[in-house]
Amino acid sequence: MSLVIIYPHRDVSDWIAALRKHAPALKVEVWPDIVEPDQVEFALCWNQPPGSLQQFPNLKCISSLGAGINHLLNDLTRPREVPLVRLVDDNLKQSMAEYVMAGVLEHFRHLKAYRRQQREHLWEELKVSHISELGVGIMGCGEIGGYVADKLTDFGFSVQGWSRTRQERDKFQVYAGHDELGVFLGQTDVLVCLLPLTPETENILNLDTFRQLPENAYLINAARGAHLVDADLLSALDRGLLSGALLDVFREEPLPQQHPFWKHDKIAVTPHIASPTNPDSAAEQIVANYHQVISDAPLRNIVDVECGY
Ligand code: NDP
Repeated sequence: MSLVIIYPHRDVSDWIAALRKHAPALKVEVWPDIVEPDQVEFALCWNQPPGSLQQFPNLKCISSLGAGINHLLNDLTRPREVPLVRLVDDNLKQSMAEYVMAGVLEHFRHLKAYRRQQREHLWEELKVSHISELGVGIMGCGEIGGYVADKLTDFGFSVQGWSRTRQERDKFQVYAGHDELGVFLGQTDVLVCLLPLTPETENILNLDTFRQLPENAYLINAARGAHLVDADLLSALDRGLLSGALLDVFREEPLPQQHPFWKHDKIAVTPHIASPTNPDSAAEQIVANYHQVISDAPLRNIVDVECGY
């Protein structure tokens, strides 16, 4: 039995080393140079080319190399009978919390405005409200969003979450479903999107959503580019519905050179770095699932293909 890594145009030696730390005898194939396709029972994929999974007749598990699984769900050539798993990793949660905290604090303490003032040699104090008065709304209170919300609450922000199904959390309130979206948005000064991309959540960051936020609200999108309607963000910024945005993910990545986001004064762009997968911390759970496959035991972090996440 072996494991295949399908991660085109990427040196995967760090992944192989990390996996072998937990399973020294693990047999690893690297796509496209496959020696024994019949032996492959476990596939580890990121942006796998269509058809690449079809060459393994004995596949028993397909794992995403990240928390997101759209590259797998969108692959119409993927063998449907093979279960999908994804990564749920403390490192991913922590680095996302750092990114969101940095974005919220930069907005809350007017750091961008002060840099502008510095360029003009302007010594002028900008008003800051008490931290508990800033409402931070987390769309998607799952593994990552829930952790981020906990950290922001601990820091002192007034946090609320929004999810698909009802959740009880100790530290903050979670609104659920479309019916409660309006109440959630009405108290959200900083809207943070950490949703999975599904048919229900695609384009959810649109003008109608922005209109329901308080004045001068700020947007952070670190989920997927297709959550955001790009033209609606530009329009919301022009109309003053939003005061700014921090974006880590885009419909097309890398963000095309001519895209208006690059030069927009109120938009901060980062190159999909909010929370990169770390092979050293992710390898253990991948190897654990590999062993589950060998022993025909239940897999961890299975994707609900019907729900799309
Ligand atoms: P989870 O599956 O653990 O959580 C998803 C959350 O979204 C759940 O709370 C779920 O609700 C909620 N949700 C799903 N559909 C809807 C809907 N229609 N309406 C309202 N809420 C909904 O995902 P993770 O937390 O692990 O990851 C979230 C996303 O973060 C990933 O899919 C990925 O796109 C993105 N990501 C981005 C990274 C980056 O570097 N920029 C890195 C890692 C992840 P419920 O609780 O009711 O099921």
